[in-house]
Amino acid sequence: MNIDSIKNGIVIDHIRAKKGFEIYDALNLGKLDCSVAIITNARSNKMGKKDIIKIDKNIDLDLDILGYIDPNITINIIKNDKLVDKYHVELPKQIVNIVKCKNPRCITSVEQELNHIFVLTDEKNKIYRCKYCDTLKEE
Ligand code: ZN
Repeated sequence: MNIDSIKNGIVIDHIRAKKGFEIYDALNLGKLDCSVAIITNARSNKMGKKDIIKIDKNIDLDLDILGYIDPNITINIIKNDKLVDKYHVELPKQIVNIVKCKNPRCITSVEQELNHIFVLTDEKNKIYRCKYCDTLKEE
C-alpha cells in the first residue's frame, strides 16, 4: 500500500499523538485482511503532532468507540482516489460495554449478563455516569 494515498478506504485523521495504537486495538483493526497503516507523530499545523490511521478498505467503524477515545478525530472516506466524505466524530451519548461500573453494589456486578452502560451527563466536562446506579465512570 502506498502510505500517501489509498484508492478505496478510510483515513482516520487528527488523532491525538500516541492514541493511534489504542484506536487500532479498540477497533480490532488487526483482524482485518486489508492493509492498515498507523502513522505516529505526523506533523500537524493545528495540533503539533498527530497520529493517522489508513485503512485500505471501506469498513463500518464503531464511531462511538472513536468518539469516546478522542472526539476530535476526523474521518475521511475515499473512493476511487477521491475524498467523497469527511466528518467529525462526536462524544457518544452513551457507551456500552467499554468500561465497567466499579460500584460493587451495582446491579451490573450481580447480573453478569447485563450490558455495562454509561450515559453522558455533562458534555462539557466529559462526565459519564452508570445508567443503573449513577456512579461516576473512572478514568
Ligand atoms: Zn453501576
